[in-house]
Amino acid sequence: MQLLVPTNWDPDLISPLSELEADVELYGVLPASMIGSGGSGPDGVRMTEKQAAEYIEQAHSAGLTFDYVLNAPSMGNMEWEENTHRELLRHLEWIESVEADSVTVTIPYLIELIKRQFPRLRVRVSTIAHVNSVARAKWLESLGAESITLDINANRDFVLLTAIREAVNCELTVLVNNLCLYQCPYEYYHHDGLGHASQSCSAPGGCYVDYCVLRCTLDRLCDMSQTVKSRWVRPEDIHVYEEIGIDVFKTSGRSMSTDRILNSAAAYSSRRYQGNLYDILNVLTPKAGATGSASLGVPGSAIGLPPKLQIDNQALEGFLDFFKKQDCLSECSHCSYCREIADNVVRFERDEVARYIAVLGAHLENLSSSRMFETKAEIRKRLH
Ligand code: SF4
Ligand code: SF4
Repeated sequence: MQLLVPTNWDPDLISPLSELEADVELYGVLPASMIGSGGSGPDGVRMTEKQAAEYIEQAHSAGLTFDYVLNAPSMGNMEWEENTHRELLRHLEWIESVEADSVTVTIPYLIELIKRQFPRLRVRVSTIAHVNSVARAKWLESLGAESITLDINANRDFVLLTAIREAVNCELTVLVNNLCLYQCPYEYYHHDGLGHASQSCSAPGGCYVDYCVLRCTLDRLCDMSQTVKSRWVRPEDIHVYEEIGIDVFKTSGRSMSTDRILNSAAAYSSRRYQGNLYDILNVLTPKAGATGSASLGVPGSAIGLPPKLQIDNQALEGFLDFFKKQDCLSECSHCSYCREIADNVVRFERDEVARYIAVLGAHLENLSSSRMFETKAEIRKRLH
């Protein structure tokens, strides 16, 4: 099995990952970079280019390969301005010089540019490119993509997965441990915001507010069936995807702790997990305030971890079979399957969830009312 595993840049990941049964490729990116990334990275990690180069060398010495992430969905047209275009080329030269084995991109133009000028780098298309049809997979393969990470929303659409496998020759990857909402309405906006916030040249100073994660966490906790609708794959069901011809399994979670990254990778590598499924999923922690800017006057701070859910993995044995005949894209308003499964397998502490929902609601009210920009005088006036 080929397993693509995130790095939070902790050197303690390398040795345990090199001992797994699977062939492991690490993926990561510096906290701020020329192109940026569309996912959340580790909090408070400072890495220089030199340190990243040493880390990649260490990974290679342990027998791991390395994928450098360049998957912001947009560069705000920086790629078409001469100075920033030259900076983009210098950044790719650096990635090649540190001997990254592959890069993950979302922007189609980057596929062509990299294959034309940096042909040694394998190009993998990000899940953020939303490859959810035969046509889109074929277009991107024709541009030069050697690997495609499929849209996570397609994970349980077996007719579509089979058709894409038959249509393209390139490597196909499925993202397996994401707790994102099925058909998340905030997804495009979220990746776009993260992409710009992580770009070293992006204006205005990388300012970013975690609206999307506040919102999706609230939606999930208000409706536990979303926990089952979410398109994660159980380690025990990996074989279903191998039988279709999926080549690579990717765990997400560059912001996860080292223990959680290792626990998750070990579960998928061994194709079974005896514990709480929630513990190997990538669950983003909502943050209050803004990051990267002083303009909002509120520091980027955690509002605490979301309440921990218990998902009985053993009770989910066989649950995937239903999806082999179900068209979730068109039938979700008439189907109660995920609700019934959630009632059986998801356990949580009701009071704790209610308290967290109230906290999230208050933060979202702060954003939708524009109170985040209120001055002290305006707050006093409102309260009296
Ligand atoms: S579910 Fe949340 S974390 Fe996932 S894409 Fe949507 S907003 Fe982002
Ligand atoms: S259609 Fe049914 S099985 Fe599919 S996501 Fe909706 S509730 Fe779940």
